[in-house]
Amino acid sequence: MTVKVRFAPSPTGRIHVGNVRTALMNVLFARGQGGQVVLRIDDTDLERSTAEYEQGIKDDLTWLGLHWDETFNQSHHFDQYEAAKARLVEAGYLYPCYETEDELDRKRKIQRAQGKPPVYDRAALSLTDAERAALEAEGRTPHWRFKLSGGRIEWTDLVRGPSHIETSSVSDPILIRADGSYLYTLPSVVDDLEAGITHIIRGEDHVTNSAAQIEIFEALGGKGAAPQMGHHPLLVGKDGEKLSKRLGSLSVKGLREDEDIEPMAVLSLLAKLGTSDPVEARSSLQALAEDFDLAKLSRTPARFDPADLERLNARLVHEMNYSDVKERLAALNADSGEAFWNAVRDNLVRVRDVAEWRQLIDGPVTPVIEDADFAKTAADLLPEGPLDATSWSAWTGAVKDATGRKGKDLFMPLRLALTGQPRGPEMAVLLPLIGAETARARLLGQAR
Ligand code: GLU
Repeated sequence: MTVKVRFAPSPTGRIHVGNVRTALMNVLFARGQGGQVVLRIDDTDLERSTAEYEQGIKDDLTWLGLHWDETFNQSHHFDQYEAAKARLVEAGYLYPCYETEDELDRKRKIQRAQGKPPVYDRAALSLTDAERAALEAEGRTPHWRFKLSGGRIEWTDLVRGPSHIETSSVSDPILIRADGSYLYTLPSVVDDLEAGITHIIRGEDHVTNSAAQIEIFEALGGKGAAPQMGHHPLLVGKDGEKLSKRLGSLSVKGLREDEDIEPMAVLSLLAKLGTSDPVEARSSLQALAEDFDLAKLSRTPARFDPADLERLNARLVHEMNYSDVKERLAALNADSGEAFWNAVRDNLVRVRDVAEWRQLIDGPVTPVIEDADFAKTAADLLPEGPLDATSWSAWTGAVKDATGRKGKDLFMPLRLALTGQPRGPEMAVLLPLIGAETARARLLGQAR
């Protein structure tokens, strides 16, 4: 059996870290077994879905390096859904109901008042042809419910282990609304069957859907037609709050464009959150796939803390080679060559922070000078002409000899005068980039 999984976003917004985690689990699961990944665009809601969001989601996944082998849109499959509907009606699984929302609400209130669970009473099943005709003559159009078996549905969940749902405690799900539009439940099953999906990995908010869907899979595809299922606990905020996709900073677009976070920082965190493995920065999907196992997921919600993301991002940035970032540095107007990059990268949390360090070269820098005589002596000892990687040690050696200062007393005033800051990249690299003329001016107290 070739493993085939799918990630099925709705293009009604951009994806956020919660969606990415589901996509990543599918990709890692497939990768680990030489399987295939399908990107299904769940755009049956024609009003809320847009081509821009669809493209945005594809761009986000591509940026993350989460690739798919096939993709298709549900909106191109309405014929298949109609055919499935006809088969289910024919076989007696799908039945028309005429209650309005208000009528259903009233029924539920009565049930609750009687201490009963608010499960649909299947009144529509006992309507006669004449009663149905009368309702339709009133102008009512039916919505359609799937008749659950009433029995116990069991499956071995890839994350949760042995699982079951008593369908007698669940209302027969509405698959088609009165306006003819499809809820997500049926199209998903039709497509999973047609695409030959072997494993469904999704959030645990879908567990109840899964029970109904297992029965729909069997109604359409025969016994055993349902893929294996895995439901992961959801991602929550660091204080346990619900993540909403409106939290722009947690959208992939926000992380990329506003936060300048590296894709592998996002993936490294999401692959490990809520598992028994330590969270570490990994530089490739392959490395993440090697220790990925759905069984390592805990049953409690995984907490997403942006501070973890920054920590991982910094780790990745510290290991980035000049050739990997050259173009980005140029776009930031902060490409000062390989030596500069190597000197500053350990000071960065994000690549774009490089611009702050580049400012030490371009200025203006306001020198911090505590001892003007010392700084003047140092200025006088600065070599004439172009400086290079050896200049710093030759110069500070001469300043040491002339002033008797050493260690921190020698280096800190020079750093403060030249950069205005007590910390930063190696001075030996910065000095030649700052240049003798600017260095002299700063040592003399001029903002340059
Ligand atoms: N479009 C559905 C969602 O985003 C897909 C769920 C599924 O994976 O079956 O919730």
